[in-house]
Amino acid sequence: GGPLGADWAVDWVRRSAATVAEHRVELITLDREIGDGDHGENLDRGFGAVLGKLDSVAPDATPGDVLKLVATTLISTVGGAAGPLYGTAYLRAATSVGSEAELDSAAVAKLLEAARDGIVARGKAESGDKTMIDAWTPAVEAAAAEAGRGASPAEVLAAAADAAAAGAEATEPLVARKGRASYLGERSRGHRDPGAQSSAYLLRAAADAAAE
Ligand code: ADP
Ligand code: MG
Ligand code: MG
Repeated sequence: GGPLGADWAVDWVRRSAATVAEHRVELITLDREIGDGDHGENLDRGFGAVLGKLDSVAPDATPGDVLKLVATTLISTVGGAAGPLYGTAYLRAATSVGSEAELDSAAVAKLLEAARDGIVARGKAESGDKTMIDAWTPAVEAAAAEAGRGASPAEVLAAAADAAAAGAEATEPLVARKGRASYLGERSRGHRDPGAQSSAYLLRAAADAAAE
């Protein structure tokens, strides 16, 4: 239940790659319903590439170094809408944690907020637009509330993951107003947003890595 170091960030990467691989077909199917069907493929390629670079992480690396590696790798390998959006999220998260070796609850909550703000800065989506923001914003709010009541970093991330999962599910009745799914208008209703679902998986991976 203590502060989180680079070992946590590395484990987050490993678990992210594993969950994206595990849910690859599901994410492809979700994206096929309201997009072009490549979301699972794009992310699997991206996190596979990050995994391949973990050996180059220096022994004295900080969580911020790992987050920056994720950012640059996703930006150059994922493509589509999600590549630059996730890339910006991890880049802002890296900037948020600076060169701290260990992250307390407040730093973890702030990291998530910075990531969400990066996605908004890049994609201009608002809550309810049926995008990954509908997973991230509830996660950020739950994390801030947990940190505020003195919860551990692991508890902060668990609350964020729970809120993101609920937020992803809650995209189903929404009409998409951003991204490729918005071309479908009313026909986007009744389908879960793939980016919101992948965001929920990534945040669950962060929580699981912290729970170890
Ligand atoms: P593409 O649509 O280019 O094929 P992906 O399939 O990889 O890209 O990613 C689609 C996901 O990206 C959507 O499910 C949505 O969550 C997210 N997305 C798209 N546009 C935006 C945006 N402007 N802001 C936030 N998220 C967005
Ligand atoms: Mg797509
Ligand atoms: Mg695409």
